[in-house]
Amino acid sequence: MKPAMAQSRKNAPKGGVLPLEQYEPKSMLHAGETHVPRSRFPLIDFHTHLTWSGELSGKDEVKLIEKPEELLPVMDRKNIHTMVDLTGGYANGLNESIRLLQDAHPGRFIVFTEPWWSKIEDPNYPKFQADQIEAAHKAGAKGIKVLKILGLYLREHVKTGKLVAIDDRRFDPMWEAAGALNMPVAMHISDPEAFFLPIDRFNERWEELHAHPDWSFHGKDFPSNRELQEARRRVMKRHPKTQFVCLHVADSENLAYVGECMDELPNMAVDIAARIGELGRQPRASRKFFDKYQDRIVFGTDAVPKGYETPQQVFEDALYEIYYRFLETEDEYFDYAPSRVPPQGRWRIYGIGLPEDILRKVYRDNAARFLGLRA
Ligand SMILES: [Zn+2]
Repeated sequence: MKPAMAQSRKNAPKGGVLPLEQYEPKSMLHAGETHVPRSRFPLIDFHTHLTWSGELSGKDEVKLIEKPEELLPVMDRKNIHTMVDLTGGYANGLNESIRLLQDAHPGRFIVFTEPWWSKIEDPNYPKFQADQIEAAHKAGAKGIKVLKILGLYLREHVKTGKLVAIDDRRFDPMWEAAGALNMPVAMHISDPEAFFLPIDRFNERWEELHAHPDWSFHGKDFPSNRELQEARRRVMKRHPKTQFVCLHVADSENLAYVGECMDELPNMAVDIAARIGELGRQPRASRKFFDKYQDRIVFGTDAVPKGYETPQQVFEDALYEIYYRFLETEDEYFDYAPSRVPPQGRWRIYGIGLPEDILRKVYRDNAARFLGLRA
């Protein structure tokens, strides 16, 4: 048998049935490929995870995922001037994140603090949390990160009881403190709409949910995506002096809704982290969105060193090159993640070829303004 024929036999499905996980179609499109090894301008990656904190456990400690010395060469190659470590923790954990990253490499790393959710039951929580934010600011934290814990995990007795609403009044002093201290609030609320639907053959993220069934928020007592989004919208409206950066384009599958919120709320901005798969499959709507909101969009990736479980987030050269290709070129039909099959859904994306003035704002200037850095 000729080698080519043997190969085709080996790759043919047995009995004519091809399991989805084995299907890896190769595009026959003769589309040009622009390799963009460095971003056009030095950038701030507004959304990374270089430390993990205690989350609902209440432990004020952090785990450093990778030594900064291992990150810096990639940053230099990719033209990343600064990385924001959003999950910097609180109290002792926060001090450790700041010491290991921000203080050790000034200008290259910025650290955010997180709310101490496990204290929610304390009668004094609203004031305690606001005071914590002030202490974090004094310690050097530049902003606050809110994981989707708020809205989907945090309950009245921390892990049990009723879900605590995003717009619960107990958080008002914290949002106000953030505004008074000029600390932007980076807020991840909800998740893709498919995560709220049954994991069945109609679900466009079947493979992703099949691999991570714990990411599903279908059924039980979870609010809908829209209810979660609207609760955050009320928070932003109630605290007009606080700058909110809604992570993952707020609601990337519904840019019309995001635009409606942004038109109403001047204190709302978005990042694009882990959502170029969504933006890139609606390139014309995305391009218009970037035009209209060019002063309120920041670059972010959700990069996690060694985050192999989620290929769209692994901190490495390949990840950044895809983002640059999406933002800077008009290439067509390419992968949105360095992965064997598209990990967030089986589709490919199209570049939006942003002009230089918008690129400059998205790569750095908008984030620098929110972070109070010099121009
Ligand atoms: Zn993230």
